[in-house]
Amino acid sequence: MNKVPLPQYDDSTAFDNLSNNKRLGSYPQLQPLVGTVKASYAQYLAVNGEPTLVHNPQIGVAEAKFLRGHYSSPPADLGHITKMRESTEHLVCPMCGSMHSGTLDHYLPKNGYPIFSVLSKNLVPACKCNSKRSETLLGTNPGERILHPYFDNCLAERLIRANFEDLGEVPRVSLALMIPNSHPDYMAISFHVREIVEKSAIRKYLADKWSLLFIKPSLVVRAFAENFATLNQVQSILEKERDALDATHYGKNNWNSIFVSGLLDAPVLTWLTQILSAPGRVPDSSLG
Ligand SMILES: [Zn+2]
Repeated sequence: MNKVPLPQYDDSTAFDNLSNNKRLGSYPQLQPLVGTVKASYAQYLAVNGEPTLVHNPQIGVAEAKFLRGHYSSPPADLGHITKMRESTEHLVCPMCGSMHSGTLDHYLPKNGYPIFSVLSKNLVPACKCNSKRSETLLGTNPGERILHPYFDNCLAERLIRANFEDLGEVPRVSLALMIPNSHPDYMAISFHVREIVEKSAIRKYLADKWSLLFIKPSLVVRAFAENFATLNQVQSILEKERDALDATHYGKNNWNSIFVSGLLDAPVLTWLTQILSAPGRVPDSSLG
């Protein structure tokens, strides 16, 4: 999960060019749509893509198919779609927080909202979680919805941490929300975590990182090559590590920051300190 900057492409001009491109099979069928498309794009922006507020004018089956086709194989008029896909591949997935992206996800799904199929502001970089999400958008309770990485500022806050229990070689791993239920976006955040993050490979990722930490702590936190005398020292090392990960990955909800935030949870911090401060401990030896 990550808040990412809104793409600055001119979707309105791109659609003009697309509809006037005589070399495409969609010519001239897209031309009558231009006015509706431009109005819909403007309204989408005005309401930040919020699914319960967006106007979703229905378009013909043939036109919808043309737009989906142009999304899948973008003609030159939509070259920015190809660029968006390629330029974000190495970045944290804004939807689930995994350490890479590689594809684009339609925030408003292209089947239910065909008019927004090629709108750049509706295309969010994502990883494989995109196909697991499928068309999930709204929940059954008020406020439950998938978060929008271009518009939901809460994605810049620290929202989740790993939760480690039964501390030892193989702990139980789950996710914990770091926001109170009085948070204005609580329903949307908890829905998004349940529907997108929990269904990704995050728990496996966190468990694997724990295994490495357990075997040789410096493989995960470089400063753990040494022993420490107090809980405050361990805490300060982990906070520095977490802040550096936040900065490197442009946000606080990438899987690596989520892992270290889990180590900062009080019971884990106490457990770690007991081991790292034990008299006679060989530095950087197993935590067992
Ligand atoms: Zn993802």
